[in-house]
Amino acid sequence: MMYHETTGAGEFPAALTESVNSLADTTLNEPKLETRDLHLWYGNFHALIGVSLAIQPRAITAIIGPSGCGKSTLVRVFNRMNDSIRGVRISGDVLLDGHSIYGGRIDLRQLRKRVGMVFQRPNPFPLSVYENVAYGPRIHGLSRGDLDERVEKALAQTGLWDALKDRLETSALSLPPEQQQRICISRLLAVEPEVLLMDEPTSALDPIATARIEELLIGLKKSYTIVIVTHNMQQAARISDITVFMLLGELVEAGETQTIFTLQSDPRTEQYISGRFG
Ligand code: ADP
Repeated sequence: MMYHETTGAGEFPAALTESVNSLADTTLNEPKLETRDLHLWYGNFHALIGVSLAIQPRAITAIIGPSGCGKSTLVRVFNRMNDSIRGVRISGDVLLDGHSIYGGRIDLRQLRKRVGMVFQRPNPFPLSVYENVAYGPRIHGLSRGDLDERVEKALAQTGLWDALKDRLETSALSLPPEQQQRICISRLLAVEPEVLLMDEPTSALDPIATARIEELLIGLKKSYTIVIVTHNMQQAARISDITVFMLLGELVEAGETQTIFTLQSDPRTEQYISGRFG
C-alpha cells in the first residue's frame, strides 16, 4: 500500500465482434495497467473510491458512466496527469507492467512517453505538421535523419501521410478537426508509447470523422493498449473489448463489452445502459 500526496444492445457491429474475438489472445497476458484499492481526493472531495481494475494489453478498454463519476480522473491517474492539481491526494497503488508508477523514483517524462494522452479537443501545437510530430522524438534525442523517418511512420499510422506529405510545413491549426486529432495521435505515436489514454477523443468531431477515428483505434490496438473515456455508450459498444462502468467515484462493474451490454451483473449497470439515468 502506498500513499501519495501532491501539491500542486442490440446488434453488435462486425468491428466489435472482431475486436472481442481478438481478446482471446490477450486474456492470458499480465495486465498492462492495474489499480489497487485506488482512492483519490480533490481536497475533501472523494473522487475515486477503492477502484481496483486490471487493464489488458493490446485491447481497447472503455470507461463509461454519467458525467462527474470519475472517468477522466481515473484515466489521468495512469500517467499522473492529476499531479499538477493542487490538493490532490491518492492512496492505493497504480502499476504499469507490474511496477508502481507512484513510487518515489519515477521519471515523469519517461512515464508520459510510455503512457500518452489524447484529449477531447484536438490540441496540436501552433507549429507545422512536421514540427508537431517531431516534437516528442526530438526531446527524446532522435537525430535529424531518424526524425524524418519517425514523422513519416507516425503520420502513416494515422492515415495522414498520403494527404499531408507534400504539406508538412502547413500549420497544424489550419487543418480540419479530424486531421488535427489525427496529428495529436501521430504526435503520441512518434515517441513510441505503449499505452494510449483517450479522454473523449471524438466528442468534438462529426459522426463521419468519429467513425473514421474509431476505425483507426481498432487498428491501433493490435500494437497498443488503449483506454478510452466515453460518454457515448454506442461508441463503447462499437469499439471496446472491455467496458468499465463507473458511478459516483466507484467502479461498479468491468467485463467483456458484449457481456456488460447484454448480461449486466449489477442492476445499476443495467439501469444506466438502458438509459434510465445519466
Ligand atoms: P467524469 O470524467 O466522469 O465527468 P471527472 O473525473 O471529471 O468525471 O470528475 C469527477 C468528480 O471530481 C466530479 O465531481 C468533478 O466535479 C470533480 N473534479 C474533477 N476535477 C476536479 C478538480 N480539479 N478539483 C476539484 N474537483 C474536481
